[in-house]
Amino acid sequence: MSILFSPAQIGTLQLHNRLVMTPMHLGYSPKGEVNDQLIEFYRARALGGVGLIIVGGCGIDRIGNAFGMTQLDDDRFIPGLRRLVEAVHAEGAKIVPQLYQAGRYAHSAMTGQPSVAPSPIPSRLTGQTPVELTEEKIIEIIASFVSAAKRAQKAGFDGVEILASAGYLISQFLSPLTNQRTDRYGGDLQARMTFGLEVVEAVRGAVGSNYPIIVRVAGNDFMPGSHTNTESRAFCQALEKAGVNAINVTGGWHETPVPQLTMNVPPGAYAYLASGIKQAVSIPVIACNRINTPELAEEILEEGKADFIGMARPLLADPELPNKAMSGHSEKIRPCIGCNQGCLDYVFRMKPTSCLVNAEAGREAELGPISHSEKTQQILVIGAGAAGMEFARVATIRGHQVTIWEGSEQSGGQLALAAAPPGRRDFLNLGTYLTNACLELGVITQYNVKATPENILSAVQRGDFNRVVIATGARPITPSIPIEEGVEVLQAWDVLAGHSIPGENVMIVGGGAVGVETALYLAESGTLDNETLRFLMLQHAETEKELYRLLTQGNKKITVLEMAKGIGRDIGPSTRWSMLADLKRHRVNCMDETKLLEVRADGVLVESAGTQKVLPADSVILAVGSCSQNELYQALQGKMEYLSIIGDAAQPRKALDAIHEAYTEAIKF
Ligand code: SF4
Repeated sequence: MSILFSPAQIGTLQLHNRLVMTPMHLGYSPKGEVNDQLIEFYRARALGGVGLIIVGGCGIDRIGNAFGMTQLDDDRFIPGLRRLVEAVHAEGAKIVPQLYQAGRYAHSAMTGQPSVAPSPIPSRLTGQTPVELTEEKIIEIIASFVSAAKRAQKAGFDGVEILASAGYLISQFLSPLTNQRTDRYGGDLQARMTFGLEVVEAVRGAVGSNYPIIVRVAGNDFMPGSHTNTESRAFCQALEKAGVNAINVTGGWHETPVPQLTMNVPPGAYAYLASGIKQAVSIPVIACNRINTPELAEEILEEGKADFIGMARPLLADPELPNKAMSGHSEKIRPCIGCNQGCLDYVFRMKPTSCLVNAEAGREAELGPISHSEKTQQILVIGAGAAGMEFARVATIRGHQVTIWEGSEQSGGQLALAAAPPGRRDFLNLGTYLTNACLELGVITQYNVKATPENILSAVQRGDFNRVVIATGARPITPSIPIEEGVEVLQAWDVLAGHSIPGENVMIVGGGAVGVETALYLAESGTLDNETLRFLMLQHAETEKELYRLLTQGNKKITVLEMAKGIGRDIGPSTRWSMLADLKRHRVNCMDETKLLEVRADGVLVESAGTQKVLPADSVILAVGSCSQNELYQALQGKMEYLSIIGDAAQPRKALDAIHEAYTEAIKF
């Protein structure tokens, strides 16, 4: 890890390594204040070895902010901000706030006033039309940036970052899509840069020539008709001339149809955006977006694509990532799997940020480090799925002796199924992490053990264990509908586990997350693989149109039936839109408000809007939900003192809830 963990500089700011925690919305400051939750969250990341933390966004005013955001718009926040800075400094990291103004991305329901923007162009994100800024109001907003920067300086921050990316106010001025002004702030690219440059120049004038200023830009807006890397380079060159000390390069707008943070984005896919900017400027450039391992970070630095690496979610998942990598133990890092379930999805729902893989994230102040239990217990866990292994991991750290009985020959439970659809592979990394963590801590995992009430009771009576935890997961539901004899009906779980599907016409019953994932898994069969695609593209062997057809049309005709209105309703908002777009791309036929009545040899009988019809189907796959596998728990209840049930075995739920529950259960005794 020679480059990533070598010292470096941003302007006058000395950093002990090149790993930057990029800003992420946390929602921990309900009234804009710094509190213990925020301080302990960042203290843990500083302690974990990151070089620079960018806090944010931090509201510079009230008209352009978001829920739960740390504020920089009033002097009364300075003492709290100072406490945050001191906590991070005490652990050896540096810290800067991101100065945030959302423009037309601000919700009037949240701010209590209409949002503002260069031009009154409706926002797809909020569904609202902003008020066009007057020149007077523009000057007021620039003054708010300046006041916020001065407060940051007064609070002891090591510099500031100005947000000019993702479709927020400054990028709204930059883009011809949202800036249709005819005054000096609108017109050609040079004119559209005016607002951003005036903000930078005013902040520079206020904080002095030596105070580090970073600007976060979109390396490409990924919006049809808006800026590409070419225009972004021109802006960055102007920023450099205006005295900016580093450029933080992210991807496109929140409204873009191009996924940037979902699991299907290949790690490091957007490093080329930073590389493009780096070629145009001589100040340091930070690369980010889906750079989720220190190895990948090192590779990007080695290839000269960037000078610093920005990570946010990987440090939410494991604050100790830098220290583990520096000590040569990357394999111990708890991986961010790009699921967005606890971070972006929570933020979209206006809930404080959490993390699927890390139950401690955001709860550092409340939980503190995992404590040693007063009395060592011998614990038997039934099931080596995510919940069972997380429980075992935490209980072992607490000093207990834990054995897992796993019925199959491998650990991970449903994680393997979750990882099967295209672009969902990272779920496997969580299984690998938990398996390795348990192994290293000394958890004894016994495979191919069929747990029964009898053998569990005998083990307890022998004194092998004094506590039993049931983590047997769930099983898929089979609806009670008539099925004609001889017709094979499969469960989606079997398909995702690799069971082959006969015939061309595939009917998937159930349009929730599992149905959608199964449809995408099958839709890819028979399409081009990466190697062939690359070859055909580079050799110009096919037209773009034909390549697209070969990439999106496989050898199955797939229909998803859903009784309720809407497909994929249980998929998080950060991911659902891109999965629905993939279904469309693969021409999966989605029929909601359609009920399956019967499975016949010639197809399925369905009812929609009061009309019945038979749809052709060679295969019928059920994805109608799951139920708890809790028979062992029921059989053992009342027969031992310490018996509990966790995860899907208690009630089918999302992986985040299962893991968090396992953690909470393990710290109880
Ligand atoms: Fe990563 Fe998922 Fe955790 Fe977000 S919730 S930080 S995407 S693992």
